[in-house]
Amino acid sequence: MIHRIFDRFVNVYIIEREDHLILVDAGLEETCEKIIEKVKELDKPLTTVFLTHHHFDHTGSLRCLREKFPGIKVVAHELDAPRIGEVDVKVKGGEVIDGLKIFHMPGHTQGSIVLLDLESKSLFPGDLLMEENGRLKEIPQMYSLNPEENRQRIKELLEIDFENLYPAHGEPIIGNAKEKLEELVRKLFP
Ligand SMILES: [Zn+2]
Ligand SMILES: [Zn+2]
Repeated sequence: MIHRIFDRFVNVYIIEREDHLILVDAGLEETCEKIIEKVKELDKPLTTVFLTHHHFDHTGSLRCLREKFPGIKVVAHELDAPRIGEVDVKVKGGEVIDGLKIFHMPGHTQGSIVLLDLESKSLFPGDLLMEENGRLKEIPQMYSLNPEENRQRIKELLEIDFENLYPAHGEPIIGNAKEKLEELVRKLFP
């Protein structure tokens, strides 16, 4: 079960496993209260926080979450870890942690990662792309360190076996996410 927490313009997701919770991204600083509320409601321990990259709208609640849940393990790519500061598990890409396969997809930032929940075939692309009005699109290029490289990564997502897509910005796409991605790739690479 995947729960979405939306705050202003960015999503945070809680993946509910049988006996614990996993957080994908940490939202804005003020998102912390909403996350705490949701964890309380689900009544399971929050064990791990995956950060798709270092940007403030994906890491803002981290300090607050650490205080509230001192046992949590924070996972991020080694190249973005220095800008995040408090990372427990530095990954390179290729690992599977807690049922999530990690792909290193630099472009938006050097240490951007994409996560695949193997159990539900759900993809968490971070800021590689976003959803708007039922369609996938690139993140506005001004926000990416290397927009051309990011565009190549979007194409590489086609090689991943997924059905659902949970973007950080926009609405989740449930069921036919691969088709939506194919649409975008055709548009970006005519
Ligand atoms: Zn970003
Ligand atoms: Zn973002």
